[in-house]
Amino acid sequence: MYAFYWQLTDYRVIFCSVVKLLFGLLLIMGGGLAHAQQTEDLPAMDQAIEKTLDDLLSSAGSESEMLAAMEQLQAKMKPDAPAMTRVRLQSYMALSHAYLGREDYAYQLLDETQQLAQQSGLADALAEVAATRILFKTIEGKLTEAYTLINDAQMPLEQARLPRVRYFAHNLIANVYQAKNLPERALEHLIAAATAVDETADERTPIRRIFLKLRVADIYQKQTQYAAALSEIEEAEQLMHSAGLTAMYAPEIAFQRAVIATSQGNYDRAFEIYTQLERDIQNDPQWASLEPTVLNNLGDLAIRTERYETGIAVLQDALQIARQQGDVITEQMIRFNLGFIDVHLGKFEQGLATMSEIVSGARGEWISSSFEPMLGEYAQALEMAGRHRESNGILLEQRDLREQIFDTELQKNVTELQNLYDSKDKAQQIELLQQQNQLSDQLLRNERQRQLILTLGVVVAALLSVLAFYLYRSAQRSNKALVFANAQLADQSVRDPLTGLLNRRAMQQELQRQAQELADSNDAMVLLDIDHFKRINDRHGHNAGDDVIRTIARRLSEICRDEDKVIRWGGEEFLIYLHNTSKEALPRFVLRMLKTIASDPVQTERAEIGVTATAGFISYPFTDSRQQTIDWEATLQLVDKALYAGKVHGRNQAWGITSLNLPYAEADKVLDTDLARAIDANYVSAVTLHGPE
Ligand code: GH3
Ligand code: MG
Ligand code: MG
Repeated sequence: MYAFYWQLTDYRVIFCSVVKLLFGLLLIMGGGLAHAQQTEDLPAMDQAIEKTLDDLLSSAGSESEMLAAMEQLQAKMKPDAPAMTRVRLQSYMALSHAYLGREDYAYQLLDETQQLAQQSGLADALAEVAATRILFKTIEGKLTEAYTLINDAQMPLEQARLPRVRYFAHNLIANVYQAKNLPERALEHLIAAATAVDETADERTPIRRIFLKLRVADIYQKQTQYAAALSEIEEAEQLMHSAGLTAMYAPEIAFQRAVIATSQGNYDRAFEIYTQLERDIQNDPQWASLEPTVLNNLGDLAIRTERYETGIAVLQDALQIARQQGDVITEQMIRFNLGFIDVHLGKFEQGLATMSEIVSGARGEWISSSFEPMLGEYAQALEMAGRHRESNGILLEQRDLREQIFDTELQKNVTELQNLYDSKDKAQQIELLQQQNQLSDQLLRNERQRQLILTLGVVVAALLSVLAFYLYRSAQRSNKALVFANAQLADQSVRDPLTGLLNRRAMQQELQRQAQELADSNDAMVLLDIDHFKRINDRHGHNAGDDVIRTIARRLSEICRDEDKVIRWGGEEFLIYLHNTSKEALPRFVLRMLKTIASDPVQTERAEIGVTATAGFISYPFTDSRQQTIDWEATLQLVDKALYAGKVHGRNQAWGITSLNLPYAEADKVLDTDLARAIDANYVSAVTLHGPE
C-alpha cells in the first residue's frame, strides 16, 4: 500500500528529523503575519522582538543555535515586556526544547507560558499556547489527545486578532480533524486560515496560500475527488512558479500528483513522477523525510504491476532509511508491503504473519483513510492463501470503515465547504484584480462622464437653439398677427364695416385736427340723406336696405376724386368732403351726385329699388355778415339745416348755402325754425338743385 505525505506528518514522533517539516509550518507562520494590515484591536507587542523571531524562523541556523538566540532574547527582555511577545517567544522555546529531546522541560515551559497567557487575558496569547500544545501532541502522534485539546484552542481563537496566531492555530486544528477523518471540519479551519492570510499582503503571502491549497488538495484527494484536488494542485503550482518558490514546494506538488495518479490507476505516470522525485530529493536534507515514503510508494507500484523482485529491492532501501530516521509508521507500512510481496510469491505464512501484526497494531491507531486500504490488501492476501473465512471477516470490517469514511452526509458537507472555500479563494483573486483595475476604471469613468456632459451640453444647446428659433418664429408670427390685428382694430375704429367708408368719428378727429387750415381753405362739404329709407327697409327688408347703403356708398366714391373723402355719417347719411373746389364746380358736382343716385335703380337680390337722396352743402371760406369765420361744427349744422330744407321742400334735391347775411348768433335762431323763410327774408343766400325725375 502507498502512503500519503501529510498523513505521515500526523504520526511523526519527536526527535524524528521530519519534525523540521512542522517547523516549516511555523516558518510559514512567521514574518509579516505579525504585521497585519488591520491594526485595530491587536494586542500590544514588542515589535523589535517580534521582528527578530520572524527572522529566526526564516534563518538556516540549527535548532540549538535558534534556541540560544531565543534564550538571549528572553534574558534581555524587560520585565514590562508585552505579554503577547513573551508568550510567543516562550512557546517557540518550548518547541525547540522538545525538538532537542528535552520533553519534560518543554512541557514545563509550556505550562508556565499558559499561566502567563491566562494572566494577560489576551485571546491571542491563549490561542497561541493552546495551538502549541496541539502541535506537541501531534508531533508525539497522540492524535486523540490533540483532538481533545481543540476545544481549548477554539474558544480563544474566536476572539484572536493576530493573523499569525489564527493561521497557525487553524492549520493545526485542520490537521487534527483531517487525521480524525473529519474532512469537513478540517476544511472549515483551512478556510479560517485562508481568511487570516487574506489579511496579510507581504512576500510570504504566496507561500501561505500555496501551503493552504495543497492542504485542501489533500482533503479532496482523500475524498477521492481527484479533479478538484488536481485543480487545487495546478493553482498551487502556478502560484509557486510566479512567486519563485519552486525549491520550497516542487517535491510536495510532485508527490501529490503521483498519489492521485496511483489512486486513478495511472501507474506508469505515478512511477515516472516518483522516480524523478526520488532523484530530486535524494541528497537534499530538506526533503530527506520524504524519501522513505517515496520509496515505499515505488514498492507499492511494483506490487500493483507484479514486479515483485524490483519491489523487494526498493522496499528494502526504504526500510533502511525509515529506520535511520526513526519513522515508525512508514517502517510498518514498508514491512506490510514486503509481507504482501511474500504472499504474492507464495510465502503465505511468513507474509501473513507480518501483515497480521501490522494490521493489529494499526487498528484503532491509524487514521481510517490509511487503515481502510490496508484492510483491503490484507483481505486479498488471506484470500490468496485460501483463508476465505478470515478474508470475509476483514472485508466486512473494511466495508464498515469505508461507509464511515465516505458517509454521504459528510460528503455533502464537504462539498458545501469546498464551494465556500473556492468562492473565498476566487473572491480574494478578484479583489486583487479589482484593486489593480480600480484606478484605470475611475479614469475611464471620469472620461466617460466628461464626454457625456459634453454630449449633453451639445444636445441641450442644439435643442435650445431650435427652441429659440421656433420661439423667435412664433414671436415673429405673433408680432405680425398683432400688427395686423392692431391695424384691423385701428381701421375698424376709423372705418365703417358695412361700406368700408371712413366713419363719422374718424372724420370728426380729422376736422378737429385741421380746423385752422379748413377755415381758410377752398374745401367744401356735402351732407346727403337717402329719401324714405324706412320705406325701403319696410318693403324690401333690412338686407336690401344694406345693399342700398353699400351701392350708394360705392356710387358716391366713384364720382369723387382720390383726394376727396366720402364718410358714412350715420345710418343712411353720408358726408362728402371735397378738397379745393371752386364755388362754380361745387353745384355741378352736387347735381351729378343727385343724378348718380337717382339715375339707375339699385339692384338687390329680390328687387330693383329706385333711390333718391336729399343733400345740403356749403363751401369754404365761409363767413357771416361780420366776416367772422364760422368753425366746421357750425358750418356742419348749417349744412344739416340746408338738407332739412331740401327734405321739407320735396326731397331729391340739394340746398347750398352760399352766404350768411347776418351775424351767426342771430342766424342760428332764424335758420333753426325755417330756412326757406330766412332765405326769403334775405338772411341767407342759397341755391337749390333738383335731382332727376
Ligand atoms: P327721410 O326721407 O325723411 O329721410 O325718410 P327716412 O325714412 O329716410 O327717415 P330717416 O332718415 O329718419 O330714417 C332712417 C332709417 O334708416 C331709420 C333706420 O331704420 C334705417 N337705417 C339706419 N341705418 C341703417 C342701416 O345700416 N341699414 C338699414 N337697412 N337701415 C338703416
Ligand atoms: Mg336719415
Ligand atoms: Mg332718410
